[in-house]
Amino acid sequence: MKNYDIKKIMEWLGYILKCPICGYKYNLSNTKIIDSQQDEIFNEAKILMHSDCAKCKSSVMFNVEIRGPEVFSVGMVTDLTGTDSNRFKDKRPISTNDVLNIHKEIRNFKGSLVELLAKK
Ligand SMILES: [Zn+2]
Repeated sequence: MKNYDIKKIMEWLGYILKCPICGYKYNLSNTKIIDSQQDEIFNEAKILMHSDCAKCKSSVMFNVEIRGPEVFSVGMVTDLTGTDSNRFKDKRPISTNDVLNIHKEIRNFKGSLVELLAKK
């Protein structure tokens, strides 16, 4: 089974991907790989990328899946920076209990929200 060359895939994606906001072609120097996985048995690769548009400054995360000859790509506009994306990639999703707990903490906290957040 072949191993995907992530660098070549990135070059190819840089050639075809355009900003969903303004249509400007992405510059690879503004695109970072957040995560990538390869499965040689099933001939699959998954790449999570973050890109900043050089023209309109919006940020987009792309999830690209390659299964044999097929390529699937989903892009979503985000307010996360590349650094944020890296920081949050391995975090678990926020649960209902997380929301309830922070609600209780805010309700019982005497002081400003800034002080509360500084405590964390
Ligand atoms: Zn743009």
